[in-house]
Amino acid sequence: MIEIANLHKQFGKTEVLKGIDLKIAEGNTVCIIGPSGSGKTTLLRCLNLLEEPTKGKIQLGDFSLEFQDHKRIPKDTVIKFRQQTGMVFQGYNLFPHMTAVENVMEGLVIIRKQSKEEARTKALHLLEKVGLKERANHYPFQLSGGQQQRVGIARAMAMEPKVLLFDEPTSALDPELVGEVLKVMKELANEGMTMVVVTHEMNFAREAADKVIFIDKGIIVEEGTPQQIFEQTKNERTLQFLNKLI
Ligand code: ADP
Repeated sequence: MIEIANLHKQFGKTEVLKGIDLKIAEGNTVCIIGPSGSGKTTLLRCLNLLEEPTKGKIQLGDFSLEFQDHKRIPKDTVIKFRQQTGMVFQGYNLFPHMTAVENVMEGLVIIRKQSKEEARTKALHLLEKVGLKERANHYPFQLSGGQQQRVGIARAMAMEPKVLLFDEPTSALDPELVGEVLKVMKELANEGMTMVVVTHEMNFAREAADKVIFIDKGIIVEEGTPQQIFEQTKNERTLQFLNKLI
């Protein structure tokens, strides 16, 4: 479903991604792990063109984009491409002046041009799915961080993306709120949603990932099943990273 080939990203003279090759099958959950500053977030942001890669190819669904220095992708292509993805950010990014249900409806009404009634019905269904139907009319400031993040997930799902991208979705949360967000993500993974998750939550990666990608200094050092990465790896760099976490 997603195929990334020889992807590079440079910020000025600094090359942050140095040739990433990656295939993600439909319905799979892929967890990206690695040290801070290794390029995980940049890779995720390249996947929905929040960052435009310097070089390489990304194929997603019907789109096949090729990047080259100085040749910008047309804006309407970027928008259409991005609409196939849903992004869940570290810091929820909900509209503060809108209730939970209004946050989830917004894209459906503004971008998909659905009627408010239709959008509200769908948004309520999604809020129920993330366990927040009773909080539908609460504003973000009336919700805990974990609840806000679950609204963020419902909002991303509302647009029916081909793939959901998560950028460290639990790292801004108090520890006691992490579990409720991971639970929703595990349910989505089990339902066959295609997900790419940048995460520090190794237990989540162990339990929910079909594939774990270990990135260091802008390259994929190793990829495999959770068992291969967490239990069987012989790679020095992977071992060093994992041992530091214990
Ligand atoms: P990770 O998610 O693994 O912590 P990032 O992808 O956030 O790593 O960052 C990788 C490197 O790219 C870091 O050295 C960071 O400073 C640099 N970087 C990220 N975004 C930008 C940017 N917009 N401009 C310049 N450098 C950036």
